[in-house]
Amino acid sequence: MTMTTSRPEAAGLDGFQPDIIAVGAGTAGLILAYSAAEAGARVLLLEKTDRIGGTLYISSGMFSAGGTKRQRERGIEDSPDEHFADIIRISRDTVNRELVRRYVDIAPALVDWLQDNGFEFEESCPVIIYGHEPYSKPRTYWGAENGRSLLKLFKRLLEPYFASGQVRVVLNAPAEQLVMEDDRVVGVVAGGREYRAPAVVLTTGGYANSPELFARFTGGRRLVSIGNLASTGDGIVLGEQVGAQIVGSQYFLPTFGGIEDPDQPGRVYASGPDEWDINARLVPQTRLPWEIWVNQHGERFIREDEESVDNRERVLLQQPDMRFWVVFDDRILDESPPLILRWPAEELRAKAKEGRFVLAAETLADLAAKMDVPAAALERTVNAYNAALERGAPDPLGRAHRPLPIVQPPFYAIKQQGIVLRTWTGLRADRELRIVRPDGTPIAGLYGAGEVLGAATFSGDSFCGGMSIGPALAFGRELGKRLAQQLVGVG
Ligand SMILES: Cc1cc2nc3c(=O)[nH]c(=O)nc-3n(C[C@H](O)[C@H](O)[C@H](O)COP(=O)(O)OP(=O)(O)OC[C@H]3O[C@@H](n4cnc5c(N)ncnc54)[C@H](O)[C@@H]3O)c2cc1C
Repeated sequence: MTMTTSRPEAAGLDGFQPDIIAVGAGTAGLILAYSAAEAGARVLLLEKTDRIGGTLYISSGMFSAGGTKRQRERGIEDSPDEHFADIIRISRDTVNRELVRRYVDIAPALVDWLQDNGFEFEESCPVIIYGHEPYSKPRTYWGAENGRSLLKLFKRLLEPYFASGQVRVVLNAPAEQLVMEDDRVVGVVAGGREYRAPAVVLTTGGYANSPELFARFTGGRRLVSIGNLASTGDGIVLGEQVGAQIVGSQYFLPTFGGIEDPDQPGRVYASGPDEWDINARLVPQTRLPWEIWVNQHGERFIREDEESVDNRERVLLQQPDMRFWVVFDDRILDESPPLILRWPAEELRAKAKEGRFVLAAETLADLAAKMDVPAAALERTVNAYNAALERGAPDPLGRAHRPLPIVQPPFYAIKQQGIVLRTWTGLRADRELRIVRPDGTPIAGLYGAGEVLGAATFSGDSFCGGMSIGPALAFGRELGKRLAQQLVGVG
């Protein structure tokens, strides 16, 4: 199926000969197609699903840049140098310095361009976000409708090119193989059909929905994912088949806390397929903890008001199955601000009656049995927490915020899992975003942008806020323009 407007409709390619094929019509692929088309190139987007947009449907869509017009309008002084220094600090200098340096330099122009094109920024941004290790300056931006605001803009910008046929999309066309001639990539086989172009760009995203690749790149860990369903790492496999180097598999951090869906093991529970909306609030800068967290041994493993999300995620990595339980009692349920915004106290009690997402029991021993943790250990842990609080003694793990002991039945427990929304490993690219072999030589005709390059390239051994969406956009935009200039010589 091909499409010549943003509405999918059947049509032939009618001898269309693209200058560029982008494999994957998501975050990087769409902006790449637009900037290449604007610079005069004909672009073919091959998309494996029945819609364009990729992870933009579900992504929070946050990106970071230092030195933007929007910051200046709000009196925030910032610069690419400061952004770069923060990324080096947060990642402990484990990123690909060359590509991160390039990113911070081109990111402000990306954000200004979004603004000039009527992007609907969420009103408050830029701000400092605490869901990841915070930057030192407010430099994180996102759309009023999160990732969908970006998709809305790209659809609007691309519409004239879809209408004129300069950019074409083939839906339901999963790329299965790269076509090689004389050591050069000259095309793609997708949906059983061969497509050719002088430049092929892999914009297929990560592997957040591939349990197999995730296990392969994390030493056998089990995946619990909120990633886009189509993120199965296809581009990484395609690149590997033609000799590309794989990078980043030494790094992985889970995102701190999500509820696994009992009906879909391995997937995070949400109200719908493109949603990520049912979360326990575990960031102390947003909501101070009233509960305790215990692992599968029935033991606390970190002070729950630990401010560093990096510390929290690193400690979670060490817990059995990357799992923990949020444990509290009936009085905490009544008196604390909602733990899960979508499940205020009465809703949470109803869930406890169902016994699928929320466990409840009249005694800690019965609760422990439902959680499958040793009862004696859970009792010891709760008693130690309560005893220190009642004596006015320091918390055993140094926690400062202890509003109430856990004494009033029923007792509750909600299982939390270290979850995955983006993935670390990917194809190595050089400064020009050419995909390279282990010896550093580029594979002619093959390029990459977005998460296919591995989140570790831009975040190293950490989560740097906005450093997946941002590089996907900025490098998609830069690469589209550069390839167009090289291939058609205008723009
Ligand atoms: C819940 C959630 C929240 C997130 N929040 C943020 C955030 O706030 N900030 C941030 O920086 N990052 C965030 N991320 C990560 C970020 O959204 C992604 O890294 C980014 O959108 C990936 O862009 P991409 O272009 O590489 O891939 P995608 O946008 O996933 O696009 C890839 C496209 O390729 C298609 N495709 C895949 N395989 C094939 C194939 N074989 N043939 C043809 N097409 C194929 C897919 O269908 C898809 O359309 C979040 C991710 C999730 C899941």
